[in-house]
Amino acid sequence: AGLVDGRIQMRRYRTADTPHHIVKDALQRPSQRATDDIMNIVKPIIKDIQTGGDAAVLKYTHQFEKATSLTSPVLKAPFPQRLMQLPQETVEAIDMSYENIRKFHAAQREDKPLQVETMPGVVCSRFSRPIERVGLYVPGGTAVLPSTALMLGVPAMVAGCKTIVLASPPRSDGSITPEIVYVAHKIGAESIVLAGGAQAVAALAYGTESISKVDKVLGPGNQFVTAGKMVVSNDTTAGVSIDMPAGPSEVLVVADRTANPAFVASDLLSQAEHGVDSQVILIAVGLDEKGLGTIEDELHAQASALPRVDIVRGAIEHSVTLVVEDIEEAMRYSNQYAPEHLILQVEDAGKVLQTVENAGSVFVGPWTPESVGDYSAGVNHSLPTYGYAKQYSGVNLSSFTKHITSSNLTQEGLKNVSGAVMQLAKIEELEAHRRAVSIRMEHMT
Ligand code: NAD
Repeated sequence: AGLVDGRIQMRRYRTADTPHHIVKDALQRPSQRATDDIMNIVKPIIKDIQTGGDAAVLKYTHQFEKATSLTSPVLKAPFPQRLMQLPQETVEAIDMSYENIRKFHAAQREDKPLQVETMPGVVCSRFSRPIERVGLYVPGGTAVLPSTALMLGVPAMVAGCKTIVLASPPRSDGSITPEIVYVAHKIGAESIVLAGGAQAVAALAYGTESISKVDKVLGPGNQFVTAGKMVVSNDTTAGVSIDMPAGPSEVLVVADRTANPAFVASDLLSQAEHGVDSQVILIAVGLDEKGLGTIEDELHAQASALPRVDIVRGAIEHSVTLVVEDIEEAMRYSNQYAPEHLILQVEDAGKVLQTVENAGSVFVGPWTPESVGDYSAGVNHSLPTYGYAKQYSGVNLSSFTKHITSSNLTQEGLKNVSGAVMQLAKIEELEAHRRAVSIRMEHMT
């Protein structure tokens, strides 16, 4: 699997000699597991948290995280210094990434309300306000993910959310990784919920004796986390929303003759190492056998040297190379696929960017590996997967705000719209609506 003649290599199709339906099939995402089984596991957990509160959260943390010494499910700010002791180079890396993410998201603020006079005396405006309380899920399980804490926490802070609650499964000794505590401290989090999975999501959505209820839950996670988010956001009594459907990570690289084969291979692999369910696509523009061979040799050589080579093999199994004639054809396929990450290693990459219609985040030119966006450039790495880039944006400042509109009419303004309002109210047979206007008309001077 993921091997061609014993090498780590992606399946390859030349679109000019391949029937369209085969190319289309090759670009299918690996199917996601049926969620019924997961739902049956997750729903009772959520009920349990609603009725059992703190004790129920602790019970699951003892069970899943084996953190049996833990006696409280939450760590409240101010977080003690001893819980965020880090090597200087880690502090500097977090600080620099924090600052770039802060700058880019601060620039997304709409400081002035938008205001339009649609008719004389009819003024409509729109202004934004932060979502008051947000819950940010930072996956724990296998990896340490301070970058996820930054990507969710910094925009929440910049947006002005009053209460920011982080949730992350603790280690088996009951502690939370110091990187995450440090980020929580920097973004002014109110607390860290020491729990994972559906129980953490439920605790955020409903609140417990010691865990603050939030208005929106954001963040990636495994299938239990995702299912938990779906359940709570469908429960109208919870009054909670979620960010977006999350699926396995993916990248699409468009490369032409000008691309450096070593760069191309490294970008494909930096996504393939995420998980066996990740998918990577290479669209090679006008490359001959020799050009393709060089990239494939690089991919095999670099992959073989990676610590996570087994994961890479799994991901490469459902990954493909499409060889196309020109950049227009490449971008047609890319826009159809709507990748989470799109990397443009082509001539005039800046110009090609103008033709991108669907993508979560784009990395332009030879000196922009996707890793910079994962950590430190300033753009967000929480992005729509599975083709959802066709209708969703990645996490950004507006994920933490909502818009409020207002209208403010003068007497003249009301006179100007009254005819239309009363006529439409009449058609809809809403007499009280009509009268709210006509009564005022009678009082006009
Ligand atoms: P996680 O924090 O998502 O999940 C751990 C929790 O899963 C545990 O606390 C437990 O509550 C729950 N769980 C595990 N087995 C269970 C079972 N049998 N029944 C009920 N609950 C169970 O950590 P993870 O598992 O390491 O997964 C991390 C996920 O996050 C991966 O899928 C990864 O791809 C994804 N991720 C995505 C991004 C992104 O930005 N897109 C970033 C980082 C991680």
